[in-house]
Amino acid sequence: MLELRSNCELCDRELPPDSTEACICTYECTFCRDCVERVLHNVCPNCGGGFTARPIRPKTARREGVSLGHDPASGRRVHTKYSQQEIAEFVATVMHIPPEDR
Ligand SMILES: [Zn+2]
Ligand SMILES: [Zn+2]
Repeated sequence: MLELRSNCELCDRELPPDSTEACICTYECTFCRDCVERVLHNVCPNCGGGFTARPIRPKTARREGVSLGHDPASGRRVHTKYSQQEIAEFVATVMHIPPEDR
């Protein structure tokens, strides 16, 4: 199940489960849209992959047993281990390659 993490790994902004600003890579690294577009240029600094919008888990159990209430956000806060400079250098080497060719 997708882990709904609490914050942007880079700027630490809150990304609650109903946020339309949350973006994830295939490893569920989680960043805000501003960081993805302006700093990361669609390059995950942890794995080099691209991002997509994080889907929003429904608040209402429209099917029995499945909703945000049944499977709440993880509450886990993650921060990327890379410095701003390391990220900028990494992004510069990868950003010109489309995600499907990385
Ligand atoms: Zn951010
Ligand atoms: Zn990643």
